[in-house]
Amino acid sequence: MPNCISPNLNANLLSWALYYAAKNLPVLPLHHPQSNGLCSCQNPQCKSIGKHPMIKDYNNKATTDQSIIKEWWCKWPEANIGILTGSKSKIFVVDIDPRHGGIDSIELWEKTFFSLGKTSAVVRSGGNGLHYYFKSLQSEKIKNQTNILPGIDIRGEGGYIVAPPSNHVNGKIYSWEISIDKVIDAPNLNFLEKKKGDSSPRSNKFIGEGSRNTFLASLAGGGHEKKWHLVRTDSESTLADKSNSLFPSS
Ligand SMILES: [Zn+2]
Repeated sequence: MPNCISPNLNANLLSWALYYAAKNLPVLPLHHPQSNGLCSCQNPQCKSIGKHPMIKDYNNKATTDQSIIKEWWCKWPEANIGILTGSKSKIFVVDIDPRHGGIDSIELWEKTFFSLGKTSAVVRSGGNGLHYYFKSLQSEKIKNQTNILPGIDIRGEGGYIVAPPSNHVNGKIYSWEISIDKVIDAPNLNFLEKKKGDSSPRSNKFIGEGSRNTFLASLAGGGHEKKWHLVRTDSESTLADKSNSLFPSS
């Protein structure tokens, strides 16, 4: 086997995959965006460019085995990196998507559950989202959940998260704002209770469609001091009125 190990953790995807594995975080190879803008899966209609697994049965095949990881990234050196979430990694991720209102939902999340701020490991995604990593010994109870609040998903059991320094189709890379070394235990898991019995993955138990706009309007006009700021990276950003830092400026 060729020597694929780089001494520099910033140098290549394999080094990072091995680094995560050394932290007992199982990894899996993901497809990646190509220079022509298409996904490496070669499907011109791919709806998940650079974000979907290259292997089948990833939940069982994701691994911390360094020899398997070296084989994968020697075979696919440009593969993006997925980190398995849930009981096998003992982590879950609060995934904030600014394109679907996630930034506006942060304040409600923090009022309802726990602070996201400068508390734990954070990734800025290539698409300008934020991924807050938390540890939990009860990770097996944390299911993948979409839209737990508008624009906020939970990556948990049975899921994975795209990890740095993976490449995004817009040309940006995923990067650590706060290192994975800083990941902390989840302050509480109340959000699990709130979702109990909710069988509709896209529904929102806290804010019905009818009251959602009222709530968001109250946030917008509520005189609160926090201003969430994200760097705009592309023309589709809806954050034109936000200025420019990761955390609340208050
Ligand atoms: Zn694809």
